[in-house]
Amino acid sequence: KLFNELQELKGNIRVFCRVRPFLPGQGAPNTVVEYVGEDGELVVTNPTRPGKDGLRQFKFNKVYSPTATQAEVFSDIRPLVRSVLDGYNVCIFAYGQTGSGKTYTMSGPDGSSKEDWGVNYRALNDLFKISQSRKGNISYEVGVQMVEIYNEQVLDLLSDDNSQKKYPFVLNPGILSTTQQNGLAVPDASMYPVTSTSDVITLMDIGLQNRAVGSTALNERSSRSHSIVTVHVRGKDLKTGSVLYGNLHLVDLAGSERVDRSEVTGDRLREAQHINKSLSSLGDVIFSLASKSSHVPYRNSKLTQLLQTSLGGRAKTLMFVQLNPDATSYSESMSTLKFAERVS
Ligand code: ADP
Ligand code: MG
Repeated sequence: KLFNELQELKGNIRVFCRVRPFLPGQGAPNTVVEYVGEDGELVVTNPTRPGKDGLRQFKFNKVYSPTATQAEVFSDIRPLVRSVLDGYNVCIFAYGQTGSGKTYTMSGPDGSSKEDWGVNYRALNDLFKISQSRKGNISYEVGVQMVEIYNEQVLDLLSDDNSQKKYPFVLNPGILSTTQQNGLAVPDASMYPVTSTSDVITLMDIGLQNRAVGSTALNERSSRSHSIVTVHVRGKDLKTGSVLYGNLHLVDLAGSERVDRSEVTGDRLREAQHINKSLSSLGDVIFSLASKSSHVPYRNSKLTQLLQTSLGGRAKTLMFVQLNPDATSYSESMSTLKFAERVS
């Protein structure tokens, strides 16, 4: 039902590029972004090669200029998010170097208010709203998990039996019946039923605090690990009794910046290698899907293994490619854009 044929014809992988604004105190703006088109065109200029020779053009499904608001971005992806309630699996990623706006897009700025909420709060808010409006026909249950992948290890950010992790208060874990039926991505990660956006905010705050444990600074840690919020939906048709399942993965990826091997050793080098491996595996999987290859290399990283049931098949994928427009980030931006170009 509500099977969107147009969507199917268009293919299930989309790439949206978002350019973040210059920040106060960032110095005189010197942008590499030359042009942002209505239809997803982006032209960047090489700051060391002024003039025509330094221009490079890209084409994505959509490009947001620095003035785009959180509400505008969400309004474009609302149909994708809503399809979860019709039984689709959806993955939304944010890719880019540290400081390019991944967390801003997915969650919002630190201590965000409703106006600058990112995709994850808006998505849940919208799912609750729609499920309310359908409640005479379909009864929905929604559950949330939150995990982190750090050095190819999956950590449950909502677990309450880890002595290292401190909760401000005790939650009642409850496992929804989606667990068995829907090929749950992380069988061991705690799932909490949620019925309102404020439940979700509470859970995400806890997850965020747990993410910071054991690392000197949350920003540092979050730039070196992937965080995945998974929303599970189970809808029961009240007339026919039939049940559908959908899920939504909201993924804030580790920073894509290349680390100079001559400058780091030990733990930092190991982290960098793990990040590199998982991001390139993700690129390989999406590239194989986009090019309709018969072999999709899901097994090369924890990230792609975890998301396997939600990448490919009927599942829908959206990648936000984040750019810092500053000239000093030019070479990182180019490598980000080349990654994006390959998967789009
Ligand atoms: P990342 O998660 O990729 O490391 P952040 O999301 O933390 O990057 O963004 C870096 C800084 O830029 C933060 O201070 C954030 O609030 C700000 N920022 C990012 N995108 C935007 C935007 N679209 N509008 C306003 N500020 C932004
Ligand atoms: Mg971040």
